[in-house]
Amino acid sequence: MQLSQSRPLSGRVAAVTGSTGGIGRAVAEALARAGADVALNGFGDPAPALAAIKAHGVRARYFDADLADGAAARGWVHAVEADFGRLDILVNNAGIQHVAPIEAFPDDRWDAILAVNLSSNFHTIKAAVPGMRARGWGRIINIASAHGLVASPFKAAYVAAKHGVLGLTKTVALELAETPLTANAICPGFVKTPLVEGQIADQARVHGMSEEQVVREVILASQPSRRFIEADHVGETAVFLCSEAASGITGAALAIDGGWTAR
Ligand code: NAD
Repeated sequence: MQLSQSRPLSGRVAAVTGSTGGIGRAVAEALARAGADVALNGFGDPAPALAAIKAHGVRARYFDADLADGAAARGWVHAVEADFGRLDILVNNAGIQHVAPIEAFPDDRWDAILAVNLSSNFHTIKAAVPGMRARGWGRIINIASAHGLVASPFKAAYVAAKHGVLGLTKTVALELAETPLTANAICPGFVKTPLVEGQIADQARVHGMSEEQVVREVILASQPSRRFIEADHVGETAVFLCSEAASGITGAALAIDGGWTAR
């Protein structure tokens, strides 16, 4: 495959879950800027993301799937492969959150968060690895979280799922270690997206604080930089993980967290 320096991923096909908005859209756009064709997914309106990605001169298509359903998650990968003819870069990004004390944590939120944030990664990876192995190249990138490395109160399901994503990532990396496929996790700190905006409102209720106080005293209190992480920077890290220079990085959890997990 002929890869140009300015568009190092041309000829590659990337599939990004939960990419109609937030971090997933930023990752999809970064991969498109690097030349990859991109398959999108998510519950938001796909039109704006599709238009932004096509502006980079690559092919882009949206594939609907509720990733809480394992068969739908596997079917999504197979639909991308059937349409694009290949899948080289799988980014598991879709995620949901619920904030509540453990004794009041709703059972259905636990089940939904484990299904979307953890089990969907298992299903998409299981479906994508055979094709990647057959074509002799692949990148699996799981968007975990600083909460894959450390915990915070009131986020039992999210923290458990994200720690699980790191365990899954390391296991897959070891199974693929002698192949040209890699599996890594990116662990962002707080990025201002609709998911975090929802948490700000939830935390304000739990702590009995104003939303401004929650941002200052709860959310960015754990992030020593006291700045939100840019979604684009998560995207560019994904592009780096797809580079030749990153071919020896596998099973890693790359923190982009303003120093959060350094203490
Ligand atoms: P977001 O809410 O903006 O986007 C989440 C995306 O996932 C949306 O496109 C949504 O439609 C999609 N989605 C949710 N449930 C789905 C399902 N069942 N099937 C298919 N798609 C589904 O969230 P975000 O902040 O962009 O988060 C993206 C990822 O990054 C998540 O895994 C999240 O845990 C992780 N993350 C976010 C932050 C942050 O501060 N925003 C920090 C660390 C990690």
